[in-house]
Amino acid sequence: MIIVLFGAPGVGKGTQAAILAEKLNIAHLSTGDAFRAAIKNATPVGVLAKSYVDAGALVPDDVVARIVEETMEAPSFANGCILDGFPRTRAQADALQQLLAAKGLAVTCVVNLNVDDETIIHRLLARGREDDKEDIIRYRLDVYNKETAPLLEFYDGAGLLTSVDGLGTVEDVNERILAAIAVRQ
Ligand code: AMP
Repeated sequence: MIIVLFGAPGVGKGTQAAILAEKLNIAHLSTGDAFRAAIKNATPVGVLAKSYVDAGALVPDDVVARIVEETMEAPSFANGCILDGFPRTRAQADALQQLLAAKGLAVTCVVNLNVDDETIIHRLLARGREDDKEDIIRYRLDVYNKETAPLLEFYDGAGLLTSVDGLGTVEDVNERILAAIAVRQ
């Protein structure tokens, strides 16, 4: 089972992906977490990614593909995974499709979490990560709207997309996502 958890920065993808991975007993790949770890450890990918992550810009697709391919080789991915923050561009969606096809797999479903921009900005300012300054948050939202949101149409066209309301308690949102996945399985 390959689930793409989709949505703007700050909609709660990371929180929800961690819970779903545990409940469904599948791996969780957050490309943002992977980049932050790579940057902290100053790996070659981390060195390449740092200036983009600091600025809230998208890391180039080929660097993203590298980290995704490497991570998905891990045995913990044998049961499937939740993708959190990937893909973010059409090129990444195509790369994902190819990577999965080579293993005889395909995306099972894409669950989009809907949260309005003002709520997102409040949540991220409260989280206070290094790239959670208001100007960088607004820039990341712009990048999402321009580069990433068009993927919704792509996945809808492929018959894979379900949108759920991302407002409410963590448990409520989790129930909605599980219900959306159950229909698609
Ligand atoms: P996130 O933790 O998902 O909010 O990601 C934090 C930052 O990591 C983003 O602002 C980007 O700089 C970078 N990043 C994470 N995932 C991707 C991706 N799929 N494509 C490009 N950049 C990414």
